[in-house]
Amino acid sequence: MGHRNNRQHVDIASLTAETQGFSPPRLLAWAAERFARQVAFATSLGVEDQALTDMIARAAPSIAVFTIDTGRLHPQTLELVRTTRQRCGLEIQVLCPDPEEVAQMVREHGADLFYSSIDNRRLCCHVRKVNVLRRRLAGLGAWVCGLRREQSVTREAVQTIQWDQANGLVKINPLADWTIAQVWDYVRDHDVPYNPLHDEGYPSIGCQPCTRAVEPGQDIRSGRWWWESPEHKECGLHVVDGRLVRKTR
Ligand code: SF4
Repeated sequence: MGHRNNRQHVDIASLTAETQGFSPPRLLAWAAERFARQVAFATSLGVEDQALTDMIARAAPSIAVFTIDTGRLHPQTLELVRTTRQRCGLEIQVLCPDPEEVAQMVREHGADLFYSSIDNRRLCCHVRKVNVLRRRLAGLGAWVCGLRREQSVTREAVQTIQWDQANGLVKINPLADWTIAQVWDYVRDHDVPYNPLHDEGYPSIGCQPCTRAVEPGQDIRSGRWWWESPEHKECGLHVVDGRLVRKTR
């Protein structure tokens, strides 16, 4: 992958002013027009992203939708890709890690390297997620994400429209202001398919070996990389104001 010029080349303040008060579907329709074919939605198939996929199918079907199959996902998550394609009538592009990168990592550190150290866990997330995302975002003008400010204190800086310095493009978070109750209301009102693991105590679903169910009332991220301390719990996909932020994926 060549070097990307990550210098900000759009006026985020004017885009924000232009879209002030837009509902998420209207914002998505605006993004489809403003960025033409240069905008894509990265779905983790979590409940926020399922709501966004439904909105895109209804209001902005020209936005490309893609997901990353890390090779370690739950079968329920893979099944949800198929169900969502059928229900929403949208193509969902499934991207995979570079097999050579994976093979080398497994040769050197073993298949379950993530349990042995934070560095190894980050290496795995980079090979299986971050590098794949960066390749897909190269050349785009904007990407859509399901980040919400309410998700955690590290997300208080999340804006509806912001500059993604790490990847050098605009990041659009249509649900930045939504509560989890609003997300579930939307999903139920529109009969949007969702991962059955959410009903089994998994508020946040990532890769199978790195996710477990939580007790009611526990932090939604406590089932992710549960063997690490909270400040390390990120996979490197999201950077806001120079800080990594969490996402329920
Ligand atoms: Fe690897 Fe776990 Fe990260 Fe998935 S969540 S990419 S299995 S370390």
